[in-house]
Amino acid sequence: MTAHADADADADVAIVGYGPVGATLAILLGQLGRSVVVLERWPERYPLPRAVHFDDEVGRIFQSCGIGEELRRMTEPADIYEWRNAAGTTLLRFGRVSDQPLGWPRSSMFNQPALEELLDRRVRSLPTVEIRRGVEVCELAQDEHGASLRTTDGDDFRARYVVGCDGANSTIRDLAHIGVHDLGFFYDWLVVDVVLDDARVFDPLNVQICDPARPTTVVSGGPGRRRWEFMRLPHESLDELNDERRAWELLAPWDVHPRNAQLERHAVYTFRARYAERWRAARVLLAGDAAHLMPPFAGQGMCAGIRDAANLAWKLDLVLTDRAPEALLDSYEQERLPSARAAIEFSMELGKVICVPDEAEAAARDEAMAAAVRLEPMDAPTLPGLATGLIHPISPNAGQVWMQPAVQGGHFDDVHGAGWRLVTVEADQGALDEETLQWFDSIGGRAARLHPADPLASRWLTEQNATYVLQRPDFYLYGTATTTADASALLDDLRARLSAHHSSLKGLPS
Ligand SMILES: Cc1cc2nc3c(=O)[nH]c(=O)nc-3n(C[C@H](O)[C@H](O)[C@H](O)COP(=O)(O)OP(=O)(O)OC[C@H]3O[C@@H](n4cnc5c(N)ncnc54)[C@H](O)[C@@H]3O)c2cc1C
Repeated sequence: MTAHADADADADVAIVGYGPVGATLAILLGQLGRSVVVLERWPERYPLPRAVHFDDEVGRIFQSCGIGEELRRMTEPADIYEWRNAAGTTLLRFGRVSDQPLGWPRSSMFNQPALEELLDRRVRSLPTVEIRRGVEVCELAQDEHGASLRTTDGDDFRARYVVGCDGANSTIRDLAHIGVHDLGFFYDWLVVDVVLDDARVFDPLNVQICDPARPTTVVSGGPGRRRWEFMRLPHESLDELNDERRAWELLAPWDVHPRNAQLERHAVYTFRARYAERWRAARVLLAGDAAHLMPPFAGQGMCAGIRDAANLAWKLDLVLTDRAPEALLDSYEQERLPSARAAIEFSMELGKVICVPDEAEAAARDEAMAAAVRLEPMDAPTLPGLATGLIHPISPNAGQVWMQPAVQGGHFDDVHGAGWRLVTVEADQGALDEETLQWFDSIGGRAARLHPADPLASRWLTEQNATYVLQRPDFYLYGTATTTADASALLDDLRARLSAHHSSLKGLPS
């Protein structure tokens, strides 16, 4: 396929794939007024069981998509995530429920099809977003003005940028000639979603049973639902495991049977770990499972994809409207890859603990872990913030996710909106240059006064000696400042970097 010679595009952005990542990106771009066409191969929503957990940062991103209140009603907070051996001895205990700095529980359990339905409703309320279901993209071409897509039905679409949110076996990744780094992790698991007829209390809510006879995951699948996952043993075939009768046999020891439960879905998945060699080829970008894949033991696969969408949406918006140079898009992979890799590596580490079918190996593991276990739950490792990219190079706290303070009227983001925010406790911001503030306004920036700051925010600001906080639209800190003059300098620095005129269409086929 050759790209159209003319520069006219049907949309600013064509998103290929309407899973949770494609839908979230469509919402964030649509909210910014960008025209979007989403191309999805299946006529109906994907019905099989997948994600059940998201973290607080992802909850906040969903909140910025305008679905926060409904989402809170269809999730349950997860407190303890415990790892036990076959005898029931605790090997690991994660969990923390006390504070909610981002305005969301640290961990929430949910049902992915229900989330996708909610996202779909929000997408359909946005006038600049068009959804085309039942169209499979099979060809891609690009030039300096845009990218063209052709579907298997022979229809053509043209957009200024294409984002491949088309999942683990991404067609867009292949068509853009982007390879993958495979980290060599392969385990097959039967995943079963169950609705129990009568409510039961599961304490702790989420457990991994590290039993070499059958490594098993037992977790919440959102309010009213439970998820069981059973590892395929070396002597079992895929067909033996991927069978409804087998699912009921494996559920029986948990007192779950057809007389007290409905089996909603079951499917065998191969858990894998890999990431794309590049996340951008000129006008084509990858996000979600197309860019990275990880085993689900940390519940981070979809979360990583939602972070991609939050990182990419505002950058595409600024570039598409000539408010930032194209080179800003290079910061997408630069900023997102380290976090995605850390999530992949942590998930693999957890996988190595549970995916042990050998008794002697499991016994040695149990002995080492039980000796080191602490009864006080420990924090799951936090993902790294941004060490590079569009952040101030030396400002303290640059690159961290900033908290969502409680303010009069609710959560900060609901009251002040998401976008560039210069948050301050300073009453007199008179020294901020008017012209700089006008420029800030032109990139969707706004100053927001925290008065009074909630105790968590007050403590943080005092500890950091910060009076001003410059927050990006994806909630990461560009930097902090102590004085109004420093805050002005922070804004000037951002302006200089967004005004730099260097093009970057790296990866355009010659
Ligand atoms: C058992 C299991 C448990 C999991 N648990 C968690 C968890 O607890 N927490 C978590 O964060 N993550 C979890 N994950 C991962 C999570 O489900 C995925 O990361 C997430 O669904 C990926 O979303 P996506 O939008 O990138 O891709 P997908 O949801 O795979 O969507 C891709 C879409 O692209 C479409 N498509 C593909 N090719 C084309 C084409 N050529 N043309 C048009 N359309 C195309 C597909 O039809 C599909 O709809 C789990 C995964 C599994 C399997």
